[in-house]
Amino acid sequence: MAAASSIPQYQRQRSSSLSHESMWGLPEACPAREEARSQVLVLNTGGTIGMGGTECDGGLAPQMNKLVEALKKMPMLHDEEYAKVMKLYDSCEFADNTLALPLSKRKKRIIYSILEYSPLLDSCNMTTDNWAKIAKDLETYYEQYDGFVILHGTDTMAYTAAALSFMCKNVGKTIVLTGAQVPIYELRNDGRSNLLGALLIAGQFVIPEVCLYFHHKLYRGNRVTKVDTGSFDAFSSPNLPPLANAEVDIRIDWGIVWRANTTKKFTVQTDMNRNVGLLRIFPGITASTVKAFLQHPMEGIVLETYGCGNAPNNRPDLLEELRQATERNVVILNCTQCLRGSVASTYATGQDLAQVGVISGGDMTPEASLAKLSYVLGKRHLSWKEKKKMLGDNLRGEMSSVLTGIHSSLRSSKFINVMTKFISLNCKEELGALIPSMACAAAKTGDLDALKAIEEVGGNLSCEDYDGRTPLHVAASEGHVQLAEYLLKSGASVYAKDRYGATPLMNAIEFRHMDIIRLLRETGAHLSGEELKNAGTKLCLLAVNGDVDGLMAWHLAGIDMESTDYGGRTPFQVATDEKNIQSLDFLNQLKSRRGFSK
Ligand code: ASP
Repeated sequence: MAAASSIPQYQRQRSSSLSHESMWGLPEACPAREEARSQVLVLNTGGTIGMGGTECDGGLAPQMNKLVEALKKMPMLHDEEYAKVMKLYDSCEFADNTLALPLSKRKKRIIYSILEYSPLLDSCNMTTDNWAKIAKDLETYYEQYDGFVILHGTDTMAYTAAALSFMCKNVGKTIVLTGAQVPIYELRNDGRSNLLGALLIAGQFVIPEVCLYFHHKLYRGNRVTKVDTGSFDAFSSPNLPPLANAEVDIRIDWGIVWRANTTKKFTVQTDMNRNVGLLRIFPGITASTVKAFLQHPMEGIVLETYGCGNAPNNRPDLLEELRQATERNVVILNCTQCLRGSVASTYATGQDLAQVGVISGGDMTPEASLAKLSYVLGKRHLSWKEKKKMLGDNLRGEMSSVLTGIHSSLRSSKFINVMTKFISLNCKEELGALIPSMACAAAKTGDLDALKAIEEVGGNLSCEDYDGRTPLHVAASEGHVQLAEYLLKSGASVYAKDRYGATPLMNAIEFRHMDIIRLLRETGAHLSGEELKNAGTKLCLLAVNGDVDGLMAWHLAGIDMESTDYGGRTPFQVATDEKNIQSLDFLNQLKSRRGFSK
């Protein structure tokens, strides 16, 4: 037994009288009380951002083990004083590679750890195996971090971003790729602001997509293409506006953020089919070139055609090669060579392609089309018909079939017109600003119809109120299971944190709503690092009080029931010392059924 002085003394509490502390899961001395913290993992794959060397000595190349030390000397990217006071360097898995941003304007402290790959790559050397490594790391560290930044060369960043967007399914956290045109070590460079912007976005917002941040803009990862070798503004997203603009403030266009709308967990598929290719049609292309390109083992190609999806239809030899390929079950996806726009069946020259079995790629970029082909054809268990159907479906917002626009629908909505008059607001934008409060109020009362009405007029059900609370937080606190399920299927995030750092799962635990805890866990919810910090002490307190429901709630939330308090005691030991029969019975039952952990 520990020395008496080191054993925490527990006061018996009535479980019904939850203090503010226990409601939000924050003990008095927790630093999150003064400032909310979030943890970001940076996967450094290479690229110009961390390159050194000159044209004379063999050209720019990635430099190992240099970035972290350099970042530690950049005050905009690291607060050394904070790191020392908080003992960052000895507190976590990548201790030496862990840094802290200065406190953000939104009063968030972003702690980030850098996992450097070996070797670091110029992105021209990337293959599908490298994509798989990144995807696996995202899976491995998914629960430990609030968001992810991937440092990557610009040359193939659009391909990697598109590939990861498909490989990662049911994404619930922000994943941002970024890099630079000029190394971060140079006097004038874009690396610092790109890294800072990516960290601020990944650490402060739940944008559940694979995104790409460059030159003050956040794009959907599968919508971008590199358009400039000599400008800091190197990327373009021709068919979808940016998800966010980082100007004086970071403004997110929540209406276009893609959401998985699911109650399923995050998973990754690393099996990508490499027998795919890109073929750009040009005047005078020969049938033998096309034939050679389509030979075995080719399983799918992206055909880059003219304008809105046209290819010569006065060339029966060419069309015949394409027909023979589709008859051999080679998938041919039609994409335009134009930077902006979509393929359509406007011209006879385009319709003839469809007749030989070519599938429309809509307004997908060639990068996204290729990645989608590789991903879909990697699903070996699917039939050819199923694969073709999947290629036409909008899987991750890569095509323009299901765009919604909160702004336009709000403006044109009758509901909003009536409400505007009713509460004497001057403009509809003002009512838009009330949506979060209205949605949270509907969640509080369990009014599913009201939530549906708000959604119908384009209201975002993942919105946050003035305390950072989302309708899902409120539904979790109130125990409205059906409503919580509806919110999840409408894209609500299980990882949203309110201003006290609490997730919906924490709220459900505090109010002991077991069904909600189960539902959230099914969707991949877990307690954040901050929430887990004093979990052992809280469990011990519940054990002392014989609060079996409370213990059960934590158990269902996936907590290790052998977590210890700050005196090193487990709930079982505390319950034994305090002779709390209810707690002992419960803990014993749990132990005999499936062991303590989970
Ligand atoms: N060749 C470099 C790369 O893609 C270019 C860059 O990072 O901007 O890694």
